[in-house]
Amino acid sequence: MGRTSSPIPRTSAEIRQSFLDFFEDRGHTIVPSSSLIPGGDQTLLFTNAGMVQFKDVFLGTGSRPYTRAADSQKCMRVAGKHNDLEEVGRDDTHHTFFEMLGNWSFGDYYKKEAISWAWELLTEVWDLPKDRFYATCFEDEKGEIPRDDEAAEYWRNQPGFNLDHVLFFGREENFWEMADTGPCGPDSEIHFDRGPEYCDKQEDPDHVCQVNSDCQRYLELWNLVFIQYNRTSPSDLNPLPSTHVDTGMGFERVVSVLQNVDSNYRTDLFTPLLDSIQILTGHSNDEREEHFTPYRVIADHARAATFLIADGVVPGNLGRNYVCRMIIRRGSRFGSKIGLDKPFMAKVSEAVIEHYSDFYPELARNQAAIYQTITDEERRFHRTIDIGISHLMNVIEETRAAHLDTIPGDKAFDLYATHGLPFEITRDIAREHGADTDEVGFFEAMEIHRLVSGSDLESEKQPKIDVEIFRSLLSDLQEKGTLGIEGVVYDPYGGFAQEITILAILKDGTFVQSATVNDEVVFVIPETPFYIEAGGQVADTGSISSITDPSWKISVKGTYQPIDGLVVHYGEVIFGEPKVGDQGLAMIDAPRRRDIMRNHTATHLLHATLRRVLGEHVRQAGSLVAPDRLRFDFTHAEAMTPEQITQVEQLVNEAILSNYKLQIQHETRDEAVTQGAMALFGETYGETVRTVSIGDEERLSYELCGGTHVENTGAIGPFLILSEGSVASGIRRIEAITGRGAQKVIQSRLGVMNRIAGKLEVDPDTLEAKVNDLLENQVNLERELRRFRDSEAMAYYEALQPTAVSGIPVLTGTIPNGDVDVLRRLTDRFRAKHDNGVIVLASMVEDRAVIVAAVSPDLVNRGLDAAELVDEVATIVDGKGGGKPTLAQAGGKAPEKIPNALAIVPGWVKERLA
Ligand SMILES: [Zn+2]
Ligand SMILES: [Zn+2]
Repeated sequence: MGRTSSPIPRTSAEIRQSFLDFFEDRGHTIVPSSSLIPGGDQTLLFTNAGMVQFKDVFLGTGSRPYTRAADSQKCMRVAGKHNDLEEVGRDDTHHTFFEMLGNWSFGDYYKKEAISWAWELLTEVWDLPKDRFYATCFEDEKGEIPRDDEAAEYWRNQPGFNLDHVLFFGREENFWEMADTGPCGPDSEIHFDRGPEYCDKQEDPDHVCQVNSDCQRYLELWNLVFIQYNRTSPSDLNPLPSTHVDTGMGFERVVSVLQNVDSNYRTDLFTPLLDSIQILTGHSNDEREEHFTPYRVIADHARAATFLIADGVVPGNLGRNYVCRMIIRRGSRFGSKIGLDKPFMAKVSEAVIEHYSDFYPELARNQAAIYQTITDEERRFHRTIDIGISHLMNVIEETRAAHLDTIPGDKAFDLYATHGLPFEITRDIAREHGADTDEVGFFEAMEIHRLVSGSDLESEKQPKIDVEIFRSLLSDLQEKGTLGIEGVVYDPYGGFAQEITILAILKDGTFVQSATVNDEVVFVIPETPFYIEAGGQVADTGSISSITDPSWKISVKGTYQPIDGLVVHYGEVIFGEPKVGDQGLAMIDAPRRRDIMRNHTATHLLHATLRRVLGEHVRQAGSLVAPDRLRFDFTHAEAMTPEQITQVEQLVNEAILSNYKLQIQHETRDEAVTQGAMALFGETYGETVRTVSIGDEERLSYELCGGTHVENTGAIGPFLILSEGSVASGIRRIEAITGRGAQKVIQSRLGVMNRIAGKLEVDPDTLEAKVNDLLENQVNLERELRRFRDSEAMAYYEALQPTAVSGIPVLTGTIPNGDVDVLRRLTDRFRAKHDNGVIVLASMVEDRAVIVAAVSPDLVNRGLDAAELVDEVATIVDGKGGGKPTLAQAGGKAPEKIPNALAIVPGWVKERLA
């Protein structure tokens, strides 16, 4: 049965599948959606369009084994011109997460096929009325770039296309550019007229109801981008040698058209989610309609959070993690508006997983982690939200009182930092009270408070050389036949040394024929054993030296791949004059590389063991495999207990001692993932993947990995965890060492222990008991010393005699070694004995004078004040004092003047009493 005769697809699952089937029938490879976290693109927060995973192909730095592709791509947009989060939930068309259908041609078909296939799919397979379609084409308002008459002509040739429905627009609407420079070209948008009743701007007297006038009547369904130029400057466009097609169709929107509903939220992409919310609230259908805004926000945010967590994003304070936190919290707050006061979003997430897992199996695979992460985050939010909102209310009041209408960004950030209120929630609530919030100021404040990750990226050390230079070098070398079609042969998995010929040398970014001592150079060899930094494993270092006379040597500080097919090395000439054409031997720093291999294999064992000990929710959130250590970040809500750390360390060491042989295989990606191989987030994988498994019949660890590993686990040597701590909310970090590093630590710690045991004259086994004894002894000694000092002080005190001043006893004296406590106890003693009297005692403690004075209560009534007295006395020892009228104390910097100070006491008392 031909697919064209199939019934018209109606459910969203059928619509998605019919799109893919249609293009598969036309020679396209159906590729899985890439992760929401763009692989290798640091500039992009989330994958926000279908072309993100093919960017390298358009830029010419990468290639694929196919020239036609189609997919349904997971996308996320939370800010920027394409989406304003405020709108999400308030209308029927905005989403944070969405799916984008797309088909691509990489130097294969072009405008003719792209347009006629789009037309065929829309009007025949999906049976949409032909007369409702409009096509926009490019016409440069500046007159610099030729009008796209070619596309317009193909449109007019489509069967049943209304000839008046081709419209021309300028650069803003119909010219696509990836960036300020690079591939670009005209595009053609397909708009669908839903009928005048869909216009939502009829009230607006300035509204002209037509294509691109921003109302709900004319929907842009599909954008076909024709990449035919390379922009090298604002004024220079050069034709590309081969042209590409990049198309994108908003899936939610096309489903709303095919299901003939007036809102994306009324398609079957959302109704199961909305139903699950209604079950939670117990609303009637009317009530559900009445509260449609909270329903939409919750459905959108729960769907986005589910997909984000499945792709390894957890709630946190920065970047992607912040977005994940914010949408869960915002969803939770909208829940509280419809009476959902307890964590509930995992229930909505269940509906997402049930409805989307057939196409996106990663959701079901990670469902336990998804539910737990969402619920934990809601709980955290509930703990602080009430206080947060009451503080926000104060801030809103203050803002009003200051006659301002905008909450300052730093205030909004304080609310986030101390009370967990994300900016977007502050803005929602402020809006509800008629105030604005300074968004730029908030994110500036966030940037200031941002934790610096402190990572020194390999890429920052790489020489900055224009990729165009490498591209022309590669094609030159291939034309000459020096390099094959595959380019430089990259084999870091074999031996550590390789005989080579120098093919090119670059110095200061330009080609040279030879280099000399101390020159910093970049050079190319036909075949290399040096590993390129990838998957957390650092690049190899080493050297290249001559094997013919005269001799030379270049240190290799790093290796990288600026474009597909070209691996380059950089370093410094140590001696001699290497020339292009010279023969040499490339050698990896082998001991360093072996350390790296130990740490890489140990990282896999650690990952698997953590999942075993802590649970399947543990997922890798980042890793560093260096020669001196390994660092492993993973998702886990709380700190590991010392017992868990010990258990993990022990199990990893057991796996090492089992001396498993590592199995390294090449399999198709689907095969590997189906069998449970763990893939890393943010990494892009080709069709064929390299897998590393450890264990015997029962596999301990099975991962997609391009790294270098030991042959048998026994080679790892001892494995030691150095630390376990928090990196961000919900993410823990373990640092560990293996092999030589671990050996060194063990040796040095044992050395310390043995030396201490030697000094204490005990066996190391009884060291702990001995130390406990010593500590106990010390406590006893201190207690005894205290007692001794007390009795000594008492002896001094007993030797003092009060003098009578105006008939009352006045005692002054110095107590050697008496601190404040001792002096106080002695004054207590004095007061117990004399109902009325004055005592002033002094001492020297660590080069300072300490003075305590006491006055009996009935003398206080007669105008004597211990605080005044002690302060007066203290001025003589260059100090200050204070306290109560009955008891006060002072300190001073001139203890040698204590006798002079005490001498004023009788006079002072006499004067006061007179
Ligand atoms: Zn309109
Ligand atoms: Zn690995």
